[in-house]
Amino acid sequence: MSPSFQSVLDRIATEIAATPGRGRLADYIPVLASADPWRFGMAVAELDGTVYGVGDWQHPFSTQSITKVFTLALCLSREGEELWEHVGREPSGNPFNSLVQLEYEAGIPRNPFINAGALVVTDRLQTLTGDAAGTLRTFLRAESGNDRLGFNEQVATSEAAHSDRNAALAHFMASYGNITNPVPDLLDQYIRQCSLEASCADLARAAGFLARHGILADGSSLLTRSRAKQINAVMLTCGTYDAAGDFAHRVGLPGKSGVGGGIIAVVPGRCTLCVWSPGLDERGNSVAGVAALDRFTTLTGLSVF
Ligand code: GLN
Repeated sequence: MSPSFQSVLDRIATEIAATPGRGRLADYIPVLASADPWRFGMAVAELDGTVYGVGDWQHPFSTQSITKVFTLALCLSREGEELWEHVGREPSGNPFNSLVQLEYEAGIPRNPFINAGALVVTDRLQTLTGDAAGTLRTFLRAESGNDRLGFNEQVATSEAAHSDRNAALAHFMASYGNITNPVPDLLDQYIRQCSLEASCADLARAAGFLARHGILADGSSLLTRSRAKQINAVMLTCGTYDAAGDFAHRVGLPGKSGVGGGIIAVVPGRCTLCVWSPGLDERGNSVAGVAALDRFTTLTGLSVF
């Protein structure tokens, strides 16, 4: 099947190019609004790290919330089950930056992939490592094989100037004792984390451990098979926020999106994918990205169902 990955990607790129409408750019982080909505790239990585790609698949973009998968894996591997006492694993059915459920659930966010949950995970990773964003960058460089992968200071500065909502989430959870580090320090780590730039090729490779049941690129183990399965399950149910049901219906794979227009997806035991196109739908997921993954699973028959 592997040689046909390239022809599937080529076909998808041709179809996407012929499709009008790309959605809207994220403009609440002003720098992201200057992206070109017509850019499109897609990559598939096999379990051994062999990558196939099309379009802008080697072009670095702002990873944003895609990083939430990797910080979750890094935190879970160090902390284990105790993490789940501080963050839930239920879909929120609300926008990714929503505050509303936190009061009803005593400062415990619904899941690690909405902003509130990711702030809790980054806070705990910061306490465990002393440098959450740096630990994440080291991990992504090692797993992608790209030593140049790094933070975009312009994106970080732009988000920092517009971080009132995330500050509110963090302070609110801190009032329940669910944030340990000083909120300004946590926001700094979280914003740096979100500012990491990587290409589709980088992210498809770096997510490989989720298709290899927790095994890293060098053959060592980050997560038990059971924990890798848990992360994939939370991606499927929560990875695309209040569109997770629609994404599961259309794509049928665990996936995680970011407002930079990227989405990663996992076919456990087979391959990992990353697609990027900056135009978003109203829920914050890439319009062309979801369409491309929808076509991929339809054309290949690869799905968890
Ligand atoms: N940095 C963004 C934020 O905190 C990430 C959101 C996203 O990609 N959905 O709002």
